[in-house]
Order: sequence, then C-alpha cells, then structure tokens
Amino acid sequence: MKRRQLMQLAGSAAVAASAVAMPGAAKAAARQNVLIIGAGMAGLRAGQVLKANGHNVTILEGRNRIGGRCYTSHQWADLPMDLGAHWIHESGSGNPLTPIAKALGLRLVSDSYNSNTNYLAGSGQMTSSQVTYFNKIGDKVETAMGNASDSNTEMSLMQYTKSKIGYNNMNAYDKRLSDYWMRELGGYEYAGDTAELSAWYWDTGKEFPGPEVYMPDTGYEPIITYLAQGQDIRLNQIVSKVAYTNSGVTVTTNAGTFTGDRVIVTVPLGVLKKNKITFSPALPSAKQTAINKLGMGTGVLDKVVLRFPYVFWPTTDWLAYVPSSTELGKFHDWFNPSPGLHGMPVIIGFTAGFYGQQTESLTNQQTVDTAMAVLRDMFGNDIPDPVDYQLTRWDQDPFSYGSYSFYAVGSTRAMIDSLATGVSNRLFFAGEHTNRDYPQTTHGAYLTGERAANQIMAL
Ligand SMILES: Cc1cc2nc3c(=O)[nH]c(=O)nc-3n(C[C@H](O)[C@H](O)[C@H](O)COP(=O)(O)OP(=O)(O)OC[C@H]3O[C@@H](n4cnc5c(N)ncnc54)[C@H](O)[C@@H]3O)c2cc1C
Repeated sequence: MKRRQLMQLAGSAAVAASAVAMPGAAKAAARQNVLIIGAGMAGLRAGQVLKANGHNVTILEGRNRIGGRCYTSHQWADLPMDLGAHWIHESGSGNPLTPIAKALGLRLVSDSYNSNTNYLAGSGQMTSSQVTYFNKIGDKVETAMGNASDSNTEMSLMQYTKSKIGYNNMNAYDKRLSDYWMRELGGYEYAGDTAELSAWYWDTGKEFPGPEVYMPDTGYEPIITYLAQGQDIRLNQIVSKVAYTNSGVTVTTNAGTFTGDRVIVTVPLGVLKKNKITFSPALPSAKQTAINKLGMGTGVLDKVVLRFPYVFWPTTDWLAYVPSSTELGKFHDWFNPSPGLHGMPVIIGFTAGFYGQQTESLTNQQTVDTAMAVLRDMFGNDIPDPVDYQLTRWDQDPFSYGSYSFYAVGSTRAMIDSLATGVSNRLFFAGEHTNRDYPQTTHGAYLTGERAANQIMAL
C-alpha cells in the first residue's frame, strides 16, 4: 500500500466510540492548558483524552515526525516497514490497541515462536536430535531464570542463572547453548544485556492474553495517525528545560518558549538519563534516583531488514542462530515476515544487548556484511546479495538513547512508581518506562498517557 493511500485510510477511518474508551467531559471552568513533551504513543494518547474532554493541548515533539519508537518507514514504497515497535503484544482482551487496530480495519497477522528453524554457527541447520538437546538446555535455563526472583541477594540475571545451571562445570558445547538461551530470554526480550538485568525484577510485568500480532500492510502508522488526529502538534521542538512554579509551567525548546498550567513529560527514560532536559526546581531525589538506577541505553534491541530478489529461507516464522562461543549474542533472531507479506522476500535480523550496542558502532555496510555472513553460515554461499536494506541505531538516537527501559541491577518496582508520580500538581509523567505492569510495550505507553490525562482531569 502506498503512503498516500495509507494516510487517507487513517484520516478517513471512523473509529467507533466503543473501540476507544474516553473518560468523561471536563467542566469548562476546569479547562486546563496542557503542554505535552513527546508525540509518541504515550503523549498522543494523553493529548487525545485531554482534548476530547475540552482541555487545550499543545504537543512539543523534538523530531520532524510523530510516533517516537513507533516508526513505520516508507523507504520502500511498496512495503511499509516498522523499524521500532512491530507487534501488538498480547493482543487479546484488555489490550487497548487491538480494538483500535480492528476499528481502523488493519490486517492483523499472528506469528509464533513455536514456528522456528534452528541453526548452529559453523554447522548449518540443527538435526532433530540437536534441536531436542538445544531445547532441553533452553528449558533448564528458563527454569533457572523463572526462579531468579527468589535469589537471596541482588545480582544480575546472568550471574544467577549461571550459578543455578552449573555453568562453570559444563562442557564447551553446553556452555555455548546456555549462552544463547541466557541472552535470548534476557537481552533479546528486554533490550538490556542479561549481564545487567536484575535477577529480582527482570520479568515482573503483567500480560494480557492473546497472540502476538503485526500489521504487515500498514505497520503501526495508522494507529499513530489516528491518535494524532486533530491535535496541535509542533514538530522540531527540542525541549531542553522545564520550569514549574505554583502558578504554571514554562517549557523551553530550541525554537521558543511555551507556557501552560501543566506539563506531561513523555520522553524516553534514555533521554532523562542523559539529562537532556533540565528541571527547575530539580526533580525530587526519589525520582532522580529512579532515573539513574532503572536501565536503558546500555544494551539495545536493533533491526537489520534485508530485502532479497527471492526467498531462500524456510517458511517458519522464526529462525534461531546459535553463534560461536567467541561471538556471543550475535544475530540470534531472524523474523520471517514473508508469509504475512504475501511472499515478499524480506527477512528481519535482530541484534540485542551488549552485542547490539557494539554493532551500532559499525558502518551500515559492515552491519549488512555481518548479517550476510550469518545468513551465509546458515544457508551457504550461494544465496544472493540483498537488493536493499534498512537498519536501526536506537541507542545512538538522541530522542531515545536506547530501545526501551528495563530493570537493571539495583533498581526496584517502586522506582517505576516513583517515575510515574507527578510533582507539585504541575509536572506529570508518562511513557512505557512509567508503567510497572506493562513496561516496554506500546500498549503500556498508551495506558500511561491515559493515566497522566486522568491525573490532570482529577485535579
Ligand atoms: C526496535 C524496537 C522494537 C520494539 N518492538 C515492540 C513491539 O513489537 N511491540 C511493542 O509493544 N513495543 C515494542 N517496542 C517498544 C515500544 O516501541 C515503546 O514501548 C513505545 O513505543 C514507547 O512509547 P512512548 O510514548 O513511551 O515513547 P516514545 O515513542 O519514544 O515517545 C517519546 C517521544 O518524545 C520525543 N522526545 C524525546 N526527547 C525529546 C525532547 N528533548 N524534546 C521533545 N521531544 C522529545 C521523541 O522523539 C518521541 O517522539 C519496541 C521498541 C524498539 C526500539
């Protein structure tokens, strides 16, 4: 579908009121002037709710586009490609994005980790007995990780898991398989390296039921466009300062100064950690501690999307690659969107954790060459060169500084609550990193935007 058609689709779509819960209307006397920093999922949802309730909202966005970490690229005119969020995770009952996607008429395709083909660096596709053994080690690692919250002392998920699976006494092959699984279930899922994830808290979020679904025809863009409809969004406004007093807020950007009654800050945790925005007065110490201790930007999740003349890989949804013991973490996951794309020859490689972060310092060509070396190791030297590629560097992105938040060693669940807490009834906070139940997700971000809007409307 072409970009123009897409925009028309989203612009004209009538989303049934029942699909999107909208809290009740504000009295005119309580009307607020609200500034929102960031036009990602959280900021757009906050603005939508406030505007629907009669408040004046201005969204200040640093980039020249909306959507934040929901970014559908149109580098390929015939194939919109999500370079940030891809799936509506746990798309069943309770996930607020599924009804919107359905009301917009988006084609939803599900995939499953159970549909996979497995490869070993240096020896190609695993035999069935190798797969059985690979999964047995995976079960062992997963069981150990599942008990990590019982650890007597705080330590990294990797340290805990290694001690529980007897890693030090394993032979080299078992260590290699264990290394794969520790990174796969840790870094590839949580964007922080398994060596920095907290054993106590790494997996304490909640889940809605239902399958993972993605939107092969459109990507996330129509949902973002729908949320943005009718809102006053100012692009290229890079916020550097937020000042607040008893009577209001002043926000300074590279292009001007904005005043309002309240402000909702939705910039990613990575941006807050880099102190890219100065708060005056300074943020309460508990909030600053939470910013410092929670993780983002020291590991990452990135994508390398390769387009080929034809499909040469199997039809399973996922391809797993166990790298050599000297290249731990290298391109574990390959997602095959081809079936959902009616056979278009595209495959998506992921890099994560410390390996992903190191990969960001390579040139584009070096990254593609590395990905191709992995594919040639899996499928032989006869496979064609890609005709084109797209890749991400979320860690180096100055409007993100990482892919999403995680519990680093030394952080706690209470710290997320601290991030979510407003200051002096003037400053409010939203974004995936402020959601203790559904962090790291688009629906988690959406729900925090709604929460911040409700907090202001409840004043
Ligand atoms: C590679 C990758 C894959 C992912 N896959 C999935 C997935 O499949 N499913 C899923 O549910 N989630 C996924 N996520 C996570 C999901 O994208 C995020 O949780 C969600 O989009 C975050 O929304 P947000 O509003 O909290 O933050 P953002 O979307 O980051 O919005 C914050 C906004 O603030 C702006 N901003 C930053 N600094 C400034 C500044 N100084 N001044 C003004 N504006 C500023 C940014 O430009 C941005 O628009 C993925 C993320 C990445 C990176």
